[in-house]
Amino acid sequence: MNSTLPDILVIGAGIAGASVAAELACTHRVVLLEREEVPGYHSTGRSAALFSESYGNAAVRALSRASRDFFYSPPQGFSAYPLVKRRGSLHVARTDQAKELDEFLALKDVAGLVRRVDAAEAVALTPVLRAEAVAAGGAFEAGSADVDVHALHQGYLKLFRHRGGTVLTGANVTALAYGGYSWTVVSSAGTFRARIVVNAAGAWADKVASLADILPMNIQPCRRTAVLTEPPDGMDPEPWPMTIGIDESYYFKPDAGLILISPADETPVEPCDVQPEELDVAVAVDRVEQATVLTIHRIRRKWAGLRSFAPDRSPVIGYDGAAPGFFWLAGQGGYGIQTAPGAALLAAALVREETLPDALKGFDPQSVAPRRFAGAYSRPVQR
Ligand SMILES: Cc1cc2nc3c(=O)[nH]c(=O)nc-3n(C[C@H](O)[C@H](O)[C@H](O)COP(=O)(O)OP(=O)(O)OC[C@H]3O[C@@H](n4cnc5c(N)ncnc54)[C@H](O)[C@@H]3O)c2cc1C
Repeated sequence: MNSTLPDILVIGAGIAGASVAAELACTHRVVLLEREEVPGYHSTGRSAALFSESYGNAAVRALSRASRDFFYSPPQGFSAYPLVKRRGSLHVARTDQAKELDEFLALKDVAGLVRRVDAAEAVALTPVLRAEAVAAGGAFEAGSADVDVHALHQGYLKLFRHRGGTVLTGANVTALAYGGYSWTVVSSAGTFRARIVVNAAGAWADKVASLADILPMNIQPCRRTAVLTEPPDGMDPEPWPMTIGIDESYYFKPDAGLILISPADETPVEPCDVQPEELDVAVAVDRVEQATVLTIHRIRRKWAGLRSFAPDRSPVIGYDGAAPGFFWLAGQGGYGIQTAPGAALLAAALVREETLPDALKGFDPQSVAPRRFAGAYSRPVQR
């Protein structure tokens, strides 16, 4: 090992890159390269900040479960603030959605986390709901939580630096090449060499792979819109759970005295600094007004962010099958915050080729391995 070279270069300092870099810095010399001047500018800074163990597909739910302990008991000194604050979540169903609700409640690993509530209890939990929106009742998860995403992200960056890691911002990676048992990574902050490259570039993960002539995982960035609205005078939304249409056609939750609403849109777009579209804002208002007795007049803020999905909607975590030392940590979709601690532990163990830590007991890495797409559209990289 060359004493002047880092062992690992991590590309992207959102929550994925920051968390895995912090885990890897225990054992390796790691440099974290971020294109923007401020880490967290893209998806990480634009989320709805929910931790729910019943949200997402089976692989996502397993990684969320593996993250729970970290959220509630982070390492000492990780953050001056609690990372999570209890916020129940309530999936509600109209009469025509009763089957969808039943199927959700029947999921084996969800059943122990959520309980069925009837329409009356659903309205007691979220008093602004219209009777029609909850006619078939709902599923209530008491153990979900709001995440302090800033504290989580900054905590990982601080831990990373404390463990000797280097963060370089304004470092746009523009070229990647493998040769002589190491990667050469060209960025606007300099050229680096390392044995291992971790691709944590979020919506740009496929673009980064293409710089190295590595086939894409077909990770599709999708725009999602969020709008902060003012509650009617005299109404305090704080006690409400996050309330979600069972078909995920809308959701809303309290947010520091305001109400965050979303049409839960998922529009495929090219990776970019995505902005909200007026139509999506209008759809958010319309859907929430249809499901509730709220009349939304005052919008304080609106934004959009990218949720990036692999074709099967599971994250992509592991070494590329065709390129030595090229590791994927991408495709977290709408769950990259709540899965971050578990995914970082998994990724660090896989990078080091170690057995998985206790938090991931029973987790099958094959469910997220890049190789699961091998038959579909991979081929060995020509060098
Ligand atoms: C509206 C909305 C609501 C959401 N709600 C939730 C939620 O409630 N719970 C939840 O768990 N998740 C939620 N998510 C999803 C979550 O925000 C993402 O899954 C997560 O932030 C992805 O993190 P990341 O680090 O992979 O991506 P990012 O934060 O986008 O980080 C990737 C970084 O890579 C950098 N980069 C890219 N290319 C290069 C390059 N060539 N060189 C150097 N750097 C590069 C980018 O600048 C960027 O900073 C939501 C997302 C949105 C948009």
